[in-house]
Amino acid sequence: MPNNIVVIGAGVSGLTTAYMLSQDPENRITVLAKHMPGDYDIEYASPWAGANYMPVGKQGSNHHAWERDTWPALKEITEKYPEAGIHFLDALIYNRKKDQETATGKWFSELVQPNPWYKDVVPDFKTLPESELTPEIDNGQIFTSVCINTAVYLPWLVGQCTKNGAVFKRAVFKHIADAADAHHSGEKADVIVNCTGLSSKFLGGVLDENLLPARGQIVVVRNDPGPMIGLSGTDDGEDEALYMMTRAAGGGTILGGSYQKNNWDPLPDPNLANRIMKRAIAIAPQLVKEGEGIEGLDIIRHGVGLRPLREGGPRVEKDEVAGVKIVHNYGHGGFGYQASFGCAETAVSLVKEVLRNKTRAKL
Ligand code: FAD
Repeated sequence: MPNNIVVIGAGVSGLTTAYMLSQDPENRITVLAKHMPGDYDIEYASPWAGANYMPVGKQGSNHHAWERDTWPALKEITEKYPEAGIHFLDALIYNRKKDQETATGKWFSELVQPNPWYKDVVPDFKTLPESELTPEIDNGQIFTSVCINTAVYLPWLVGQCTKNGAVFKRAVFKHIADAADAHHSGEKADVIVNCTGLSSKFLGGVLDENLLPARGQIVVVRNDPGPMIGLSGTDDGEDEALYMMTRAAGGGTILGGSYQKNNWDPLPDPNLANRIMKRAIAIAPQLVKEGEGIEGLDIIRHGVGLRPLREGGPRVEKDEVAGVKIVHNYGHGGFGYQASFGCAETAVSLVKEVLRNKTRAKL
């Protein structure tokens, strides 16, 4: 008897979980979502992400393990499938000790440590000599990372799942248990995988009060700074950030950003956009021609995404609601891509546990 699995959500969490589940021919998968790749919406975080691999999980945490376990998968996809829209790029990381207690400084605290756990995971990790640091920087490092063009990568994941037989449909659920009746076979689903991100705060049967948005505003430009850059904080505000990355396959350069907790504003703030662009040019003058300021930036679009942050970390666990078996995989804050395969692997093992004991009710 095949396994009927419904995945709710077509962001990076839902698609990666569906992709891994679809590799087992016993699994019949329906992916149901309000938003699909190609859509841009404030309720859909994944298209807005940079996205790159800059680990932030505290050493020894699940988060650390999920990021560690994701690197090999992203590396393999980058090497084997150029059509997935991921390329290798140097990442330059700079730390100012004075940022330690700010919202941005806390978010980046593991990333900017001089001796981080991820130095043994990513290739070519090197501490930058003092001679290569400006006076306000306390320490810095460089390593090989990846940058993902989300507009190419998310559809690529859909393609991989579809090739393996998964069926995609639009649906909006008010209650998670309703998804059990929505499998494309017409039979009851054996298990629901919940990958609804920030919306799990409002989804009936879940209503997770630990979820909150960390608002990220970005400017996408045609200019290319070369390596990716990340700084521990800015002098413009404790929840503002400075990072940049050029996406693979002509995806443009993302200039960031902000990390504004509990801010739901979907509209770009023009003043913040100005500060983002000024900061970017100050740290990477090569973005524009000599002597130029922000007028030298060729803007593709302004954007805002809400990182699905969760107090206590992501929820990747089994649950049962109204007699329906659930596996949750949501709440990945600003690290949904860089932890995607690690979290999906845990979710898949929980799905397997559920399926081992399955008894299918009739519709
Ligand atoms: P989402 O992408 O939000 O997807 C949720 C899905 O669930 C959607 O398909 C939605 O339609 C569906 N859904 C929700 N509710 C319902 C419902 N009731 N019924 C049906 N469907 C529903 N991460 C990194 O790893 N690296 C980065 O460089 C990075 N940069 C970022 C930059 C910015 C500006 C932002 C905003 C985020 C960044 N992130 C980054 C974080 C990353 O984008 C998120 O962690 C990730 O996209 C979350 O994915 P998700 O699939 O869990 O949620």
